[in-house]
Amino acid sequence: MLPLFFLATIVVACQGSDLDPTHQIHLLRPQSGSHGTPVPDVSCLSWRLGVETRNIIGWSTVPKECEGYVGHYMLGHQYRKDSKVVAQEALVYARSLSIAGDGKDVWIFDVDETSLSNLPYYAEHGFGVEPYDSTSFNQWVLTGKAPALPESLKLYKKLLSLKVKVVFITGRSEDQRNVTTTNLKHVGYHTWEKLILKGSSYTGNTSLVYKSAERKKLERKGYTIIGNIGDQWSDLLGANAGNRTFKLPDPMYYIS
Ligand SMILES: [Mg+2]
Repeated sequence: MLPLFFLATIVVACQGSDLDPTHQIHLLRPQSGSHGTPVPDVSCLSWRLGVETRNIIGWSTVPKECEGYVGHYMLGHQYRKDSKVVAQEALVYARSLSIAGDGKDVWIFDVDETSLSNLPYYAEHGFGVEPYDSTSFNQWVLTGKAPALPESLKLYKKLLSLKVKVVFITGRSEDQRNVTTTNLKHVGYHTWEKLILKGSSYTGNTSLVYKSAERKKLERKGYTIIGNIGDQWSDLLGANAGNRTFKLPDPMYYIS
């Protein structure tokens, strides 16, 4: 009787857990490497904290010594747990508001590493240790196979049910509109007020300048940005940032 009981317990536990592959942005695959082991001259956890708090800025690649650490973080449980806290706090805040439901209250969502996850790509490219390669990354984008970041998708659905409109603002270029639209819809983002991509008029401008300008346009049109979620500080700083902002983790790359 005892072995059967244990078997039943395990089956039930697995059914209700994160092990369901349909809910994974990437199968959990804890990495060996720096997890739990000392790294000479650099504490990767301290480095990640510095990145997330914007004490470390302007960096171009993850320190080589931290590839194992960042990979372990991104593919293990902690990244998902950290993202969940962000999305849950955003929802607590949204629920505290009186939403008029007149279609003017909007929430800004960034796309990459916010609505969609490029983790399958970065897992194959050193988790940010390799220098950014736009050709290779754009080839991945054009496959349209980026999964949703599950916590962001849940937040998106809850916000819609609260009668908040969603506006995507992404650094992806205008010529990636079709594949981005298809990718978003395919993974569960079925509707939105606007999908704003970086047009050629912003060539040479930082993401912070571009996103600020587009948010300003929105508020001039009468929208109120009640919330804003993104993985980069350049999504959340600058003009018309939103009444509250929510920073998702991203120790893999930095965009100014
Ligand atoms: Mg992003």
